[in-house]
Amino acid sequence: MLDCGEGLQTNLRKYKIPLQKIELICISHLHGDHVLGLIGLLGSMNLFGRERSLKIAGPSAIVEFVTRSLELTHTHTRFPIEFIDCSGLGDEPVMTWGENTVRAFPVKHRIPAYGFNFEHRPSIQRLRKDSIGAKGLQRSEILKLKAGEDVVRDNGEVIRVQDHCEPLKPPIRYVYSGDTRPCDAVRTAAKNADVLYHESTFLHDLKATAKSTGHSTAQQAAILGNEAGVHLLVLGHLSSRYRDEHRVLEEAQRHHPNACLANEGMRIRMVLGEKPSVHYLE
Ligand SMILES: [Zn+2]
Ligand SMILES: [Zn+2]
Repeated sequence: MLDCGEGLQTNLRKYKIPLQKIELICISHLHGDHVLGLIGLLGSMNLFGRERSLKIAGPSAIVEFVTRSLELTHTHTRFPIEFIDCSGLGDEPVMTWGENTVRAFPVKHRIPAYGFNFEHRPSIQRLRKDSIGAKGLQRSEILKLKAGEDVVRDNGEVIRVQDHCEPLKPPIRYVYSGDTRPCDAVRTAAKNADVLYHESTFLHDLKATAKSTGHSTAQQAAILGNEAGVHLLVLGHLSSRYRDEHRVLEEAQRHHPNACLANEGMRIRMVLGEKPSVHYLE
């Protein structure tokens, strides 16, 4: 889960997303609109009997925020919480599971803040259907090929991965900017990403305000997304002053061919070998 604002649990219930399935919470920074739902969520996880550990990644101060808030509100959690301080990670990922990796990168806001880069990179080879029978492959040989290694038989015969496996599909990536001024760290992380969520707090006529408050304009987000070659640009964190959100979208669409606004209940389907598509949860 990325950030944890107020009203989060109401939305999880509304869209029938089970909170116990959450394994990792990435907090971009400690401004209230990004963390005020966190303690309530931990309390609910406990109430519903969670015992499995939970990972929380974010700036260093997240540890104190969570531990002190739990203490002061007498919220007890039976399950262990494992904190991941993004400031000490360097090149190390926040978390890896299966063929998936999450990395954090520092962005430019008024306080320490991070963006997150989610990558699904296929590494397990799929055998071509005609190969198993044709070569009489043994189980041990199949496992070796699936791991990407050529097989050398006792008689010297070499069975190559490239001849008997489908080519690996290119990875898919989702990048989340958190709150930030336009910055190189997001541009680099988002290079050729399938989806970039970028904050877009202001329209470009307020670019001076955006700069002084550590935010971006729709135009800046769109130009950055375009330069990075992002396929789908999702804009969020719009200032409440914009009653007509279409003005924000229009500004972005002038600079990026495939921009949309983040909406409640929006789901982006990302499948290997396909372009991301937008759907809505009922
Ligand atoms: Zn902020
Ligand atoms: Zn914010």
